[in-house]
Amino acid sequence: MSVDDRVRGEFPLLSRMLNGERLVFLDSASTTPKPRVVIDAVRDYYERVTANVHRGVHALGEEATDLYEAARLEVASLINASPSEIVFVRGTTEAINLVAHGMGLGPEDEVVFPESEHHANWLPWRVRARPVPVPIDADGLPQWDRFESLLGPRTKLVAVGHVSNVTGAIAPLARIVELAKKKGVPVLVDAAQSISHLPIDVRALGIDFLAASSHKAFGPSGVGFLWAKRELLDRLALYQVGGGMVSLNEELDGRFVPRDAPFRFEAGTPAIEATIGMGAAIRFLRSIGLGAVREHDEQLGAYMLDRLRKVSGVRVLADGLPMTERIALATIVVDAPGMTQENIARALSDTFGVCVSGGFHCAHVLHARAKLDGTVRASPHVFNGEQDVDRLVDGLTQIVG
Ligand code: PLP
Repeated sequence: MSVDDRVRGEFPLLSRMLNGERLVFLDSASTTPKPRVVIDAVRDYYERVTANVHRGVHALGEEATDLYEAARLEVASLINASPSEIVFVRGTTEAINLVAHGMGLGPEDEVVFPESEHHANWLPWRVRARPVPVPIDADGLPQWDRFESLLGPRTKLVAVGHVSNVTGAIAPLARIVELAKKKGVPVLVDAAQSISHLPIDVRALGIDFLAASSHKAFGPSGVGFLWAKRELLDRLALYQVGGGMVSLNEELDGRFVPRDAPFRFEAGTPAIEATIGMGAAIRFLRSIGLGAVREHDEQLGAYMLDRLRKVSGVRVLADGLPMTERIALATIVVDAPGMTQENIARALSDTFGVCVSGGFHCAHVLHARAKLDGTVRASPHVFNGEQDVDRLVDGLTQIVG
């Protein structure tokens, strides 16, 4: 039995009908459906526990804290880190903003990142530092041969998406880290798109920061994490303060002493149930195995690209990139007179029951450079099979026709 046949039944959403058709969900790069074990973990917290963490002295408070901290262990072991280096945040966006603020960057400090990045890994550098983008080609692929020349005496950070949310391209992290380290520059990796597709070992990669979101990896939204090397975490400035992150607050002399990392960054009541759900999602992912996910990705990705490139009126972005250098994600430009790319995505859902993304995917610069007025993105995951790609291709063929 193939892996998609094995896991499909675990996702209640996938048994839903959409406009008279069985739902075909091809939008995991946006957010993934949730397996039953994640839904159950969240429900179980509400029905059996419901207490605040790191505060309650009663039994339920202790149980909630144990479940919450167990999720930190799951995240740490997924990426080969120490739990004390995992900060829970709202998601990738907040994790990157935390670093951008915490490093105390100024307008003369340069941050080097590909022009193709998602706004979450573009705007924080634009707002807080001097952005130095790595140019991209007409397909949205970074010109990595120009990367080294952009590293200079003012470079404070290299920030790179592990996998592009538009092209699905896997960044050559080993080479990027090697060149950055030669200049003593730390590297931040945006793992929003890779965390549920590729094995990640932060120590083996030699990186300094990693940001990811739970909701793109089968978990609830509203939570994600920042991993940072312990010595860097200890140096990052606090970007918010409040309950739960302080060990001493003296009224008279104004002194306050934050707790040690990671708790010093977790002010206020966190997204407890979502974090517990993220722990369950990681257990689910590891029960399938990232090796099996990758194998499925390569097979289904190759099938999808092959079928899409045969539809007349459809152009696949970064078509020449081999499957070994991308995940199963295809962004296409559909030539259907009188229809925008958003119209096409809408028609796929309303007429064919196929959910894909349409528009700019929070990557305006990439679309501007590639002179594209939007694109349509199909992003399958481990629960999708060839029959889902066939439905997408049938729909597109009819729309173009
Ligand atoms: N980085 C990439 C590559 C993404 O695809 C996304 C979301 O689409 C983000 C960052 C932002 O993630 P979030 O909205 O969960 O903070």
